[in-house]
Amino acid sequence: MICSSCGQANADGDRKCSGCGAELSYDRNPTIQNSYLPNYLAPAVILTFICCMPLGAVALIFAAQVNGRQIAGQWQEAKKSSESARLWCWIAFGAGIVFWTFYIIIIVIIMILGSKGRM
Ligand SMILES: [Zn+2]
Repeated sequence: MICSSCGQANADGDRKCSGCGAELSYDRNPTIQNSYLPNYLAPAVILTFICCMPLGAVALIFAAQVNGRQIAGQWQEAKKSSESARLWCWIAFGAGIVFWTFYIIIIVIIMILGSKGRM
């Protein structure tokens, strides 16, 4: 049972969503239940700008495919794109952390070398 408010997967028979606490309704059309799919567009955009450009861009490409494929009724393909977008968001996030860690280390080294140079 997929929560219609947040997309959280819940065990069938659960009355409330374990993710957001919303009431789960079982009388809906299954296609409507399936219509919510996270596209990870927002995190992909953020990661592209602040973390790692090429990896964020890959996440962005997959994220951009999700809605288009949903509209086209390609549920399986849309789901694959959604999962790929999530995966690449995490890869970009990890790469971003590594990048910024190295960046800060290099800045610190340059500052230390710079202060030694003045002495
Ligand atoms: Zn929920």
